[in-house]
Amino acid sequence: MRLSWARLLIPLWVECIGAVEISRHFAGRTGSALLWDLERDALASAWNERRAGSVAFQPGSLLKAFTFAALLESGIYDAGRKVHCNEGALEGEAALAYSCNEYFDDAAKRLGVDEMTRGYARFGLQYGKPSVKLREMLPAWKRLVARHREARLAPLFRGLRKAVEFGTARYAGAGGVAVAGKTGTMRDTALFAGYAPAEKPKYLLLIHLDGGSGGGDAAPIAGKVFRALFPALRSAFDPSRVDVALFWQNAPRQLNLAPGEYPEGTDIVTGQTRMRAPGPIAVKRDGDEYSVRARVALEDYVEAVLHGEAGGFQHAASRQAQAVAARTYAARFRGRHAEEGFDFCDTTHCQDARFVLQPRADLIGAVEATSGELLWRAGKPVEAYYHADSGGWLEEPSRKDAWWKAEGNALWEWRVKATDLAAALRLTFVTQQFRVMEREKSGRARALDVFGHPAEGTAFRTAVGRAMGWEKLPSRLFEVERRERELVFRGRGRGHGIGMAQTSAERMAAAGKNYREILGEYYPGARVGVSASGLAWAMRREGKVTMYSTQVERDAALLALAAKELARWEKELRLSVAPTLRVYPTREAFRDATGITDRVHGAARGSRLRLVTGASAETVRHELLHALLETNTRVRHPMWFREGLVEALNGEKSVDAEKVRVLLREQGLDRVLRSWREGLR
Ligand SMILES: [Zn+2]
Ligand SMILES: [Zn+2]
Repeated sequence: MRLSWARLLIPLWVECIGAVEISRHFAGRTGSALLWDLERDALASAWNERRAGSVAFQPGSLLKAFTFAALLESGIYDAGRKVHCNEGALEGEAALAYSCNEYFDDAAKRLGVDEMTRGYARFGLQYGKPSVKLREMLPAWKRLVARHREARLAPLFRGLRKAVEFGTARYAGAGGVAVAGKTGTMRDTALFAGYAPAEKPKYLLLIHLDGGSGGGDAAPIAGKVFRALFPALRSAFDPSRVDVALFWQNAPRQLNLAPGEYPEGTDIVTGQTRMRAPGPIAVKRDGDEYSVRARVALEDYVEAVLHGEAGGFQHAASRQAQAVAARTYAARFRGRHAEEGFDFCDTTHCQDARFVLQPRADLIGAVEATSGELLWRAGKPVEAYYHADSGGWLEEPSRKDAWWKAEGNALWEWRVKATDLAAALRLTFVTQQFRVMEREKSGRARALDVFGHPAEGTAFRTAVGRAMGWEKLPSRLFEVERRERELVFRGRGRGHGIGMAQTSAERMAAAGKNYREILGEYYPGARVGVSASGLAWAMRREGKVTMYSTQVERDAALLALAAKELARWEKELRLSVAPTLRVYPTREAFRDATGITDRVHGAARGSRLRLVTGASAETVRHELLHALLETNTRVRHPMWFREGLVEALNGEKSVDAEKVRVLLREQGLDRVLRSWREGLR
């Protein structure tokens, strides 16, 4: 049996090795993978194909796709039926996306053994068989994908797409091409099965890895393979980073950089501004203007948005509420400018993002305190719109804003000559008519008669904003009066009235409400959490280390280790730091927060350390050493010295560590540390 698989696979692979080669994506792992060309019905490529035919594993959650198929074919599927899972009560498609055990246990129970057996047999699978080989999963998935147009199975295929859009398989996303798939994580086994393009499947990919998780290990490799397979559509999709167009509204005509690509930290100097690249940047020249695109870690983007949107907030709670809203907005509306090749512009069209040279400690604090937290509803980040001032009535949720007050610039007036307005709007003809025809429940103008032209309220406000300036008509909540040659607009509020009202949020914070209460007021029914299950940060201290974790009991050992190691190294190096340690519950959450996508489990920035739960002692020490060293120098040392010193002290092997070891041998620790603090001499 073993040999026959090998015989079957090798010639096919050799035949097409020139076309596709996937092995390189699996460097450093053990396992196997099969890539099937569905159009040619032939193996396109494989990695450890012998193992694919010989090593058996528990198929786990990969089978949920077939359970779902059995459920749909049985006729007892009820689209409205929800089962309570970690992520909340989910219907079938979302349950597949999040790989909810409870939903599919319930389905199997309802179907019964006979129906499940029949259902699995349709795909050549044996129900209840404890283990399978990857090679045996292949025909089952081929049969499944072959039916991707069947209306009866549509919820299943939508669920597989959602798994990649926002569920457990989201790191399999390939940017320009739609991927559908399913992950599985069993003891010591990480699995992925999926295909692309989702609408017209061309490739089917099955992955089995020893160790790791389906979502955190197998899916990211699948993403790499799919991106390599569709080079025409390739965009370097990375869910933990967003692409931001800098200077979107005011493209610079002067720039210190020639067109090209530059690393994070590069100084960007235009005629007016100076900033440090918040991530890798690409500079292009378009006529006599430059465009600058930056790939920014999600949390750094949120920090920049707070500098644009929350600079005036006086209270920690309103800053934190704004951080969660901004992060959720980013997660939900990523790709808003996809047609132009980036995710977000840096203006209020998306979110006002300001990448400043000296970030404010209070704003960094708000990002940190809510790190990774989003607003969730029905297993998805909500459409977290927010606005400056509600004017007393929210548009959505449609109700009175209990926290609004007619203070500050909540009330406004705009006077304009009728002829000026008509000219700015470039109307072809002009009558004497000007009035609001229809209003929303909130009182906002829905339809107007603009000098004889019917216009929607939003369209009118946008047209005025474009032609005459956005500050003129701050909201649609206005009365208009004609006074001889003038039109007088008297209004309340600023912005669209959807979601959180910033002035009201500030008032809630002043009244002692916390950020969760503020968000609960303006996004009713949404849950705040690091994942859809609403995990929340809790704080614990030991020694000089402050830990934030979503599971403090489970991470207590990590905190104890950090405190012990810190005490030891502070003494040894005669340096001191009081670090905060944030422990992420999953590697996905860590990646979303830090933008680090390779197999690293920790990161440090200043005295802020980030770790994945269960990180090794070596990782903890490594990041602690970074914190201890980085906060005790004012010199910008070269990378090899920063990393090498940490690695050498931590007993790690690397080229940089070797260089520093030579220094340590020649000069001794004291002198090297002095160089570290005062500069290399
Ligand atoms: Zn925009
Ligand atoms: Zn390091």
